Amino acid sequence: MPVVKYEGENSDILIDEDKCTACGTCVDVCPSDVYEVGDVSKVVDVDECLVCMACVDSCPEEAIKVIEK
Ligand code: SF4
Ligand code: SF4
Repeated sequence: MPVVKYEGENSDILIDEDKCTACGTCVDVCPSDVYEVGDVSKVVDVDECLVCMACVDSCPEEAIKVIEK
Protein backbone atom coordinates (compact mmCIF):
# COMPACT_ATOMS: atom_id res chain seq x y z
CA MET A 1 0.00 0.00 0.00
CA PRO A 2 1.25 3.47 -0.78
CA VAL A 3 1.57 6.70 1.12
CA VAL A 4 -1.89 8.25 0.87
CA LYS A 5 -2.24 12.01 0.77
CA TYR A 6 -5.31 13.87 2.00
CA GLU A 7 -5.50 17.55 1.02
CA GLY A 8 -7.38 19.83 3.40
CA GLU A 9 -8.08 23.45 4.25
CA ASN A 10 -5.51 23.77 7.00
CA SER A 11 -3.15 20.94 6.25
CA ASP A 12 -2.23 18.05 4.04
CA ILE A 13 -2.04 14.72 5.89
CA LEU A 14 0.05 11.83 4.60
CA ILE A 15 -0.30 8.30 5.94
CA ASP A 16 2.20 5.60 5.10
CA GLU A 17 -0.14 2.62 4.98
CA ASP A 18 2.80 0.19 4.91
CA LYS A 19 3.95 1.44 8.31
CA CYS A 20 0.49 1.74 9.93
CA THR A 21 -0.34 -1.13 12.30
CA ALA A 22 -3.90 0.11 12.99
CA CYS A 23 -3.08 0.65 16.66
CA GLY A 24 -5.70 3.38 16.98
CA THR A 25 -3.51 5.93 18.76
CA CYS A 26 -4.19 8.63 16.17
CA VAL A 27 -7.94 8.21 16.72
CA ASP A 28 -7.45 8.49 20.49
CA VAL A 29 -5.29 11.62 20.46
CA CYS A 30 -6.86 13.68 17.66
CA PRO A 31 -9.12 16.38 19.15
CA SER A 32 -11.06 16.75 15.90
CA ASP A 33 -12.03 13.19 14.98
CA VAL A 34 -10.00 13.37 11.79
CA TYR A 35 -9.16 9.65 11.77
CA GLU A 36 -10.94 6.33 11.50
CA VAL A 37 -9.04 3.05 11.77
CA GLY A 38 -10.00 -0.18 10.07
CA ASP A 39 -7.29 -2.26 8.43
CA VAL A 40 -5.20 0.91 8.41
CA SER A 41 -5.73 4.49 9.53
CA LYS A 42 -7.79 6.64 7.16
CA VAL A 43 -8.45 10.35 7.25
CA VAL A 44 -12.20 10.91 7.20
CA ASP A 45 -12.37 14.68 7.76
CA VAL A 46 -9.14 16.38 6.76
CA ASP A 47 -10.67 19.88 6.85
CA GLU A 48 -11.19 19.54 10.63
CA CYS A 49 -7.44 19.27 11.27
CA LEU A 50 -6.18 21.86 13.79
CA VAL A 51 -2.52 21.19 12.95
CA CYS A 52 -1.84 20.38 16.62
CA MET A 53 0.61 17.60 15.65
CA ALA A 54 -0.63 15.23 18.39
CA CYS A 55 -1.05 12.44 15.85
CA VAL A 56 2.40 12.95 14.38
CA ASP A 57 4.00 12.97 17.83
CA SER A 58 2.03 9.94 19.07
CA CYS A 59 2.12 7.51 16.16
CA PRO A 60 4.49 4.73 17.28
CA GLU A 61 5.31 3.82 13.68
CA GLU A 62 6.01 7.39 12.48
CA ALA A 63 3.45 6.73 9.76
CA ILE A 64 1.84 10.21 9.77
CA LYS A 65 3.01 13.50 8.33
CA VAL A 66 1.00 16.70 8.69
CA ILE A 67 2.02 19.62 6.52
CA GLU A 68 0.61 22.99 7.58
CA LYS A 69 -0.74 25.25 4.82
S1 SF4 B 1 -1.16 5.94 15.32
FE1 SF4 B 1 0.05 5.44 13.48
S2 SF4 B 1 0.21 3.20 13.48
FE2 SF4 B 1 -1.43 3.75 14.90
S3 SF4 B 1 -3.33 3.65 13.66
FE3 SF4 B 1 -2.59 5.77 13.61
S4 SF4 B 1 -1.30 5.91 11.75
FE4 SF4 B 1 -1.58 3.74 12.23
S1 SF4 C 1 -2.60 17.45 13.64
FE1 SF4 C 1 -3.98 17.34 15.43
S2 SF4 C 1 -6.00 17.89 14.62
FE2 SF4 C 1 -4.70 17.39 12.85
S3 SF4 C 1 -5.11 15.24 12.45
FE3 SF4 C 1 -3.32 15.33 13.81
S4 SF4 C 1 -4.13 15.17 15.90
FE4 SF4 C 1 -5.84 15.66 14.52
